[in-house]
Amino acid sequence: MKSTKRRALLRNATLLAAGGAAGLAIPGSAAAQARTPFTVAPTFIPVAGSSEVFPVRRIYCIGRNYAAHAREMGSDPTREPPFFFQKPTDAVQNVPPDTIIDHPYPPLTKNYHYEIELVAALATGGRNIPMDRALEHVFGYTTGLDMTRRDLQRAMGEEKKPWEIGKSFDHSAPLGPLQRVASVGHFTKGAIWLKVNGEIKQNADLSQMIWSVAEQISKLSEAFELAPGDIIYSGTPENVGPVVKGDVMQGHIDGLPDIRVKVV
Ligand code: MN
Repeated sequence: MKSTKRRALLRNATLLAAGGAAGLAIPGSAAAQARTPFTVAPTFIPVAGSSEVFPVRRIYCIGRNYAAHAREMGSDPTREPPFFFQKPTDAVQNVPPDTIIDHPYPPLTKNYHYEIELVAALATGGRNIPMDRALEHVFGYTTGLDMTRRDLQRAMGEEKKPWEIGKSFDHSAPLGPLQRVASVGHFTKGAIWLKVNGEIKQNADLSQMIWSVAEQISKLSEAFELAPGDIIYSGTPENVGPVVKGDVMQGHIDGLPDIRVKVV
C-alpha cells in the first residue's frame, strides 16, 4: 500500500473514530470506507448538570394538541386524531440557562409567531410502542419554542401545499438544555406559559393536552420507527401570536428552567 493511501485511510479512521465517539450514525459499510469532501456539523443539545450532550436525530412536532389552540387554528379538536410534522435537525437553537440569546427574525415572513411547548427527548426507540411502556423511552425534557412563519403556513395550507416553509426553517426550534427524567420526572400537569416583554401571552396547563406525551410516542411509533436522538415537540396551547425584532420571549414550564430569547 502506498504511504499516501495509508495516510488517507488512517485519517478517515481517525475521523470515523471521532464521529463514533460523538455518537454519529454512519450507515453502511461503503460509507465507512469513503472519504467525505466536507464535514456536516452534527446537532447536539446540552444535558443539564453534566458535560454530556444529546445527539439529535429527528425533530417531530405534534399539531393542535390543546383544544383551545385547535379551535383558534380553525379545526375541531374533538374529531381530530394526532398529526405530526418535522423540523430539520439543525433547526435547533440551543438556549443556555440564565441567558437571553439572540434569535434571528427569519426571511419572507411578516407574521412571525411563538408557540411554547414541552419537548420530550428519546433515549431509545422502536415501532408500535404500547402507551403503557412509552415513557420508558424518554431521556429527558426541556422547554422549547416551535417558531412559525404563520403567514406562510396559512398560505400554504389554503393552497393544500406542504407547511414546510412555515415551520421547518433555520433556527425555528429554540430550546433549553435537556433535564434528565431522573432529575425532573415526567410531565402530565403543571403550568406552561410564555411572556413577551414581561407580559403574559400564552398561559395554560400541561394537563390540557389532548394527547399525552405517552400517547404521542405510541402514535408516532405506528407511523415511524423511533430511535435514540429523536425529540418531540408536544404542541402549544392557545393564544399564539406575533413577535417583532427587539421582543424578548420568556418560556416557562413548571419544573423546568425558563428560556429567554430575544428576536433580532
Ligand atoms: Mn407547535
